[in-house]
Amino acid sequence: MRKLLRVCVIGAGAAGLSAARHLTSELDVFDVHVFEQSSRVGGTWVYSENTGIDERGFPIHSSIYWNLRTNLPKEVMAFPDFPFPSEWNSYLSHQQVLKYLQDYASHFDLYKYIQFNSSINSVRPLEGKDNQKLLWEVVVRDADTKESQILLFDAVIVCNG
Ligand SMILES: Cc1cc2nc3c(=O)[nH]c(=O)nc-3n(C[C@H](O)[C@H](O)[C@H](O)COP(=O)(O)OP(=O)(O)OC[C@H]3O[C@@H](n4cnc5c(N)ncnc54)[C@H](O)[C@@H]3O)c2cc1C
Repeated sequence: MRKLLRVCVIGAGAAGLSAARHLTSELDVFDVHVFEQSSRVGGTWVYSENTGIDERGFPIHSSIYWNLRTNLPKEVMAFPDFPFPSEWNSYLSHQQVLKYLQDYASHFDLYKYIQFNSSINSVRPLEGKDNQKLLWEVVVRDADTKESQILLFDAVIVCNG
């Protein structure tokens, strides 16, 4: 049996979700682990009134304002395999974009691959000797317990915005 390639995806915004959607479409090839430092998918589309540092010590990630609408029409923003609802206007509210990303994650069953409240603190290559392949050492910190663990991956996709 072929060994699965362990892939780490950092972040569960639009880019991380898209990476996860395509990696998990080939589960006979990839062992997929997504790490998201917040407790939600959506990245910058998760609106917050706050600025600065959140209660867990992370920078507030979103930079959108309350009445923001998209500056691109939905027709060019959509993932090719997941259109926006046809009844929505072309220029969306940020709430609609977040709903779309949450629906995308549910539709492609991505939540089970995402470890929330998990911040990646460092990523470094481990030099393989001779013909050994290169591995990536990833340090993951749990936002609640503050404990860190070191994990090894064959590949890392950085989607931290
Ligand atoms: C004000 C504004 C308006 C925009 N308007 C549009 C628009 O109209 N149309 C459009 O197509 N695009 C727009 N964009 C671009 C927007 O950046 C993209 O739509 C998209 O959301 C980017 O997704 P992303 O996954 O690359 O990053 P993000 O959405 O930023 O997601 C990154 C994720 O990584 C997580 N993360 C960060 N660091 C770590 C870490 N160390 N460990 C674990 N997790 C981590 C964050 O918590 C976050 O969830 C806009 C952006 C802004 C800021």
